[in-house]
Amino acid sequence: MTNIERHTYDVVVIGAGGAGLRAAIEARLAGKKTAIISKSLFGKAHTVMAEGGAAAAMGNVNANDNWQVHFRDTMRGGKFLNNFRMAELHAKEAPDRIWELETYGALFDRTKDGKISQRNFGGHEYPRLAHVGDRTGLELIRTLQQKIVSLQQEDFAEHGDYEARIRVFQECTITELFVENGAISGAFGYYRETGEFVLFETSAIVLATGGVGKSYKVTSNSWEYTGDGHALALRSGATLINMEFLQFHPTGMVWPPSVKGILVTESVRGDGGVLRNTDGKRFMFDYVPDVFRKQYAETEEEADRWYSDPDNNRRPPELLPRDEVARAINSEVKAGRGTQAGGVLLDIASRLPAEQVRKRLPSMYHQFKELADVDITKQPMEVGPTCHYVMGGVEVEADSTAAAVQGLFAAGEVSGGMHGSNRLGGNSLSDLLVFGKRAGEFAANYATEAGRRKPSAAAVEGAVETALAPLTRGEGGENPYTLHHELQEIMGALVGIIRREGELQESIGRLAELKERVKKVGVSGGRKYNPGWHLALDLRNMLIVSECTAKAALERAESRGGHTREDFPKMDPNWRRVNLVCSLDGEDVRLERKPLPVMRPELQGLFDRSELAKYMTDEEL
Ligand code: FAD
Repeated sequence: MTNIERHTYDVVVIGAGGAGLRAAIEARLAGKKTAIISKSLFGKAHTVMAEGGAAAAMGNVNANDNWQVHFRDTMRGGKFLNNFRMAELHAKEAPDRIWELETYGALFDRTKDGKISQRNFGGHEYPRLAHVGDRTGLELIRTLQQKIVSLQQEDFAEHGDYEARIRVFQECTITELFVENGAISGAFGYYRETGEFVLFETSAIVLATGGVGKSYKVTSNSWEYTGDGHALALRSGATLINMEFLQFHPTGMVWPPSVKGILVTESVRGDGGVLRNTDGKRFMFDYVPDVFRKQYAETEEEADRWYSDPDNNRRPPELLPRDEVARAINSEVKAGRGTQAGGVLLDIASRLPAEQVRKRLPSMYHQFKELADVDITKQPMEVGPTCHYVMGGVEVEADSTAAAVQGLFAAGEVSGGMHGSNRLGGNSLSDLLVFGKRAGEFAANYATEAGRRKPSAAAVEGAVETALAPLTRGEGGENPYTLHHELQEIMGALVGIIRREGELQESIGRLAELKERVKKVGVSGGRKYNPGWHLALDLRNMLIVSECTAKAALERAESRGGHTREDFPKMDPNWRRVNLVCSLDGEDVRLERKPLPVMRPELQGLFDRSELAKYMTDEEL
């Protein structure tokens, strides 16, 4: 009989990025015994890598900003496919969540008069990103961890045990959720270092596992982002929405090859950086779509004046939403106006004095100096699109973050709906604070109602068997690294930034073949720190999530946000009314069309009718 470490908690939070930590704090503040589980080291998550900042309409730099303008920008950025209620809650609650961080000990950069400073970012009408240089995520995670430590100190004072009501399990990967009689009863996983198994008995789980980028080769995502939470939700009977929408960030490093995909923050453009092709042309002026034409400058002079006088000039087109800029760079490179390494040039050197660049963008300065031997205060950066963020995720109820399975909640990047077809930069850090808090609160309420539950012995045995299968097959099985490489090739070549019907069909066939091979994956060695085994277990998650993306991308016969179909290049108002919902039918992904919730009239009233007419059908208007 396999040895399994067992724990019982009121609330189990899977993921220790911003969403997970904020959820855990709220559950603990509600008095619940809470576990935080993290696949990576505690403190190492995408949240810590966030550079630009957190979007919140505080109006500190431009007093015209307010939640209504933020809501409008978010809906426009998502091309109106967003769950309007999530976008509304997000815009209304983000400023309070930022303030609250300062009460926990965060210190954001300041304006001259001592307010939290806010910077410009693509798609945001006013300077809106609260930031700490270009290391905002680090401050956010540091602060949330500090709050957790202070709660543990309170618990020590009261119970003589720091971990009495909140405990962190790091380097621990969850591979299975248990559902009995339609409700969550626990989670199962293993410690990466020892390979020992661990079981959490609980009635309330918050998924906060982040993104899916590791299905692509060129990505800003790190090794943990294999879509585990998405797959765990699907397998437990919950649904995913918007899986066709992936954000390819326009500016990843393209050279040298060993660092291809690493992010170059949008703050470079927010602080004045411009994009040029190899002819020296500032090409973004040629790519302003009709829906955005009114808000963006038509000449370089007007665009440059906007930085000092934003009320009387229109924004530079370099600050269009990310999907537009990524497609423009892709077109320039395809037309032969890109660099040899397949990128374009991002120039901050000729726009800001060297000491300003080093002060405002310290991480970028070091990143290029150390990784590419480029001094960005003197030379332009070479950049191109990189797979960055998944808009799709667990379908949740907007106010409570509850998924379709009782006791399952989701927040942060793993949840879907908030960003529609395209996320605005800075809206993720605020999203994870707003909905992380809500997830913790509602999971705690649910745990009170549901009481404690535990999974059946048979279910736990099944999870052990599935986890051990690659080791049992041993070296004779399929190689996990080969399969991962093939998956990345398929996704990059056939389900990438520009999509076509024939290629998508081909991808679905090839993913089905790969799925059969993943069932035969085998690894040598034992359970003690065995990265091949870890990858073998991650692969089935990546496969199922990639199948969702490919099938939804084939179904959606239009182009919108992070989904571009060469054969259907325009947005179609009829498709705006539809969410594609993925669920599991046996082992296969099933797609259903579901109508989008209709925006309340007072929220519709925030837009000009002429603007809504670009997105909505006559019947809706
Ligand atoms: P994450 O922070 O990604 O954390 C996920 C957690 O889940 C990790 O602890 C991981 O170990 C854990 N996990 C995953 N799978 C499992 C499993 N099976 N078992 C146990 N634990 C698991 N957004 C902005 O708004 N502004 C920015 O400036 C910005 N800059 C960015 C820069 C970079 C380089 C990147 C990659 C992203 C950036 N983003 C930015 C996006 C933003 O950082 C992420 O979307 C956000 O941090 C996601 O937070 P999260 O809490 O949902 O998940």
